[in-house]
This record gives sequence, C-alpha cells and structure tokens, in this order.
Amino acid sequence: MTLTPQQQAYLTTMGVTVWRDQSAPEVVAPERLTSEPSVASPVAAAGSSGGHSHAGALDINTLDWADLADQVSICTACELHTGRSHAVFGVGNQQADLMIVGEAPGADEDRQGEPFVGRAGQLLNEMLRAIGLPRQTVYIANILKCRPPNNRDPKAEEAQRCVAYLYRQIALLQPKLIVAVGRIAAQRLLNTDTALSRLRNKVHVLKETQTPFIATYHPAYLLRSPLEKRKAWEDLLFMKKTLDSID
Ligand code: SF4
Repeated sequence: MTLTPQQQAYLTTMGVTVWRDQSAPEVVAPERLTSEPSVASPVAAAGSSGGHSHAGALDINTLDWADLADQVSICTACELHTGRSHAVFGVGNQQADLMIVGEAPGADEDRQGEPFVGRAGQLLNEMLRAIGLPRQTVYIANILKCRPPNNRDPKAEEAQRCVAYLYRQIALLQPKLIVAVGRIAAQRLLNTDTALSRLRNKVHVLKETQTPFIATYHPAYLLRSPLEKRKAWEDLLFMKKTLDSID
C-alpha cells in the first residue's frame, strides 16, 4: 500500500518511521460482532428506552439536536456545572457514519465549548485525516459535557447522570461505528474494567443503541506515550476497514 500525503503526515507526527501492511489487524465482519456488557445506570436506561431524564420532567428522547444542545447548556444535574465556562455538547457532521467519543472536556475544551481542541485535538484531527475522514466528516462528543476540576477522572455518578445526553446524540446521529478514545470512555461505555489493551483491536457492540463500537487510545495519551504510537496506527486502519465493511 502506498501512503497518502495525509497518512505520511500522521506517521511523521506520531514518529512512526516504518509501516508494514501485514501489521494491520484483522477486520471483524459485522456478523461476527461480539457483545459486551452495557452501562447499567438508571439514566442510561432512561436515555435508551423512552424513559425520563435525570431532570425528572424532561424526556430527553423527544429532543432534537437543537433542544438537546440547549438542555445541556443549562444542565445542573451534577456538581460539574458549577465550574464550567462552557458545556461542551459535541461537534461535527450530524449525518456522520463515524462518531468519536471521549471522556470529558479539558481546559481548552471548556474554554472554547468544543471537544478535542488543543494539542490532543490536533493529533485526533491528524489521525482522522490519515484515514480519509477529516474532522468535519465525523461527529465528536464526550460522555461528560462539563469539565471535571483539575482534569480528574469523572465520578461514576457524574457519568451516569450525563450519559443520557450521549445516548440521545447517538440515537439522533445513528452512526455506523462509534470509536471510544481512551480507557475511561471505553470502560464506562462497555461497563467493564478490562484493560484498554484488551478492548482494542476488536469490535464490540454498545448495548444501549446496538451500535458497533471500537476502543483505542486517547490522543493525549499518545502524546506522552511514544511506545503506543504504532498500535494507534494499527487501530486507525482497523477502524477504517471496519467502517468500510458496515453497510
Ligand atoms: Fe449536566 Fe452532564 Fe454537565 Fe453534569 S456534566 S451538569 S450531567 S451536562
């Protein structure tokens, strides 16, 4: 396979100097998808089965994109609302086949109100461009819409309260494939404590929405973990081949 300029740019950014086609992982056909445990929270159930949201009177499942974004912007369902500059709803193509899901906004995202900006966001953009999917062609969101203080890990109850918004986004978008970036996003959505190294390189199913689901490394982690760069490249190829294999 000949590298495109975009792929070469990504590899240069990642410091990957050798590329072999046979290193690409096996693509698991959709009919061989493996099922994983789901998130088992009351809010998750409400978000996926027609119930009511944490707000009590509001049925998130009836909201369109605009109303959902409005609701997130005024949400006070967990303590994280007290420290936010902006709620970070999500961004991208609302007809996208691919949805990228991270854990929570960081400082840059909180400031700008957009997910995956700053250095990690730039690397994510490079990664997507390398497989022919520029940022504007996908949809990007986080499980949590407000920044945890000092970039601490989200608490379980915060994720449980907020994930209904993500499920509504998935229902509106109906992506062919969800890619969770980072251990926390992958583990929370699959409701498992299995190591990311064992979750990657296979296709799961997000039980709440029956969406094919892949896990890979967070770009912020890749920036500080050079040894994982090659695996991230393998994951990108796996992601693209899986997406292309889904009708
Ligand atoms: Fe609401 Fe989610 Fe923000 Fe908590 S993190 S206040 S649940 S939008």
